[in-house]
Amino acid sequence: MLPIPPLMLTTGPVPAYPEVLAALGSPVLYDYHPAFQIFYADVTEKLRQALRCDAAPVIMQGEAILGIEAAAGALISKNDVVLNLVSGAYGKRFAIWASRYGKEVIELAVPYDDVIDPQAIREVLRKRPDISVMALCHHDTPSGTLNPLGEIGAITAEHGAYLIVDAVSSFGGMNVHPQEAHADIFITSPSKCLGSTPGLSLIAMSDRAWAKIETNPDAPVNSFLSLLAWKDASEPGKPFPVTPSIGEIYALNAALDRYVEEGPENVWARHALTAAITRKGLFELGLPLWPKEEAFCSPTATVFKVPENISDVTLRDRLLHDHGILVSLGRGETAGKVLRVGHMGASAQPDFARQFIAALSGILSEPFSAD
Ligand SMILES: *Cc1c(COP(=O)(O)O)cnc(C)c1O
Repeated sequence: MLPIPPLMLTTGPVPAYPEVLAALGSPVLYDYHPAFQIFYADVTEKLRQALRCDAAPVIMQGEAILGIEAAAGALISKNDVVLNLVSGAYGKRFAIWASRYGKEVIELAVPYDDVIDPQAIREVLRKRPDISVMALCHHDTPSGTLNPLGEIGAITAEHGAYLIVDAVSSFGGMNVHPQEAHADIFITSPSKCLGSTPGLSLIAMSDRAWAKIETNPDAPVNSFLSLLAWKDASEPGKPFPVTPSIGEIYALNAALDRYVEEGPENVWARHALTAAITRKGLFELGLPLWPKEEAFCSPTATVFKVPENISDVTLRDRLLHDHGILVSLGRGETAGKVLRVGHMGASAQPDFARQFIAALSGILSEPFSAD
């Protein structure tokens, strides 16, 4: 038996909504049953509406890193010069795939408590007009920082480059959509702000991205990594490249229904308020945020520095064992220095932020809290 989960204020995976858990209990339907094919097309259409994009999005049957790696493989050819914008661990990691498929990767990096400055991108593009693809992680989750995607998208479009955006931990928790941001490939996940389970990559595509991919001789085919293989998968009657993750599709459907029923604006407001209460509480406790400026903070996760008299692991363990609250440790650059509190999907509740701050305040006010 699995233990009863604590209050999970983690940064993904996150607790799933009750409707999602109920949907996971639905009977497994054969993927070639016409009813499943219609259902799959319907879920794809709901996702398209949630993403507010024109072309049918692609659902790849694996956790969001699959979608990110597949996007790199499909879009980037051996003629492409890629500008990789790095403000954290996920942005940095994209270079592995960009350099596998591209001609050259140029990195524009800032310290991981900072965000990308659009002006700096303009300078790089002036020196390197041959840049043809740009990649950005919108919310680099280990840092809790949010890059100015709107401005970056506009600059990319002006330059005529293609833009790949990792919006895994921002989409669904704030007002961000691929077309508005001029993203050509925009990858997100059901297991962050949509409050479903991990196991799928949700990918919005622009028409020009499809056109480039279809003429890219290096784009993976006959491979689990092939984005192209899923292009028309939502058209009833077309075979699926592999068996879809049936249960995850049911779960996604329930998460999308919930998103629409609550109203996206209300969902975003709930995320923003939860984050604001968390930041205010930390400020009152004298705990500094990891991001250099409060304006850089994501509404979907709050990253703060752990005080010197207690280790990150001890504080995390005390929150879990004494208060039943589970938060995430830092990763990479932020490892050992911070704790990370998720406000994603079902965990984006103002009351959870208040509970978390009360628990933290209790632990830090005890004389024996020091290691
Ligand atoms: C969660 C997340 C992903 C998915 O990657 P995992 O490490 O497998 O969870 C990708 N990008 C970002 C920014 C994420 O937060």
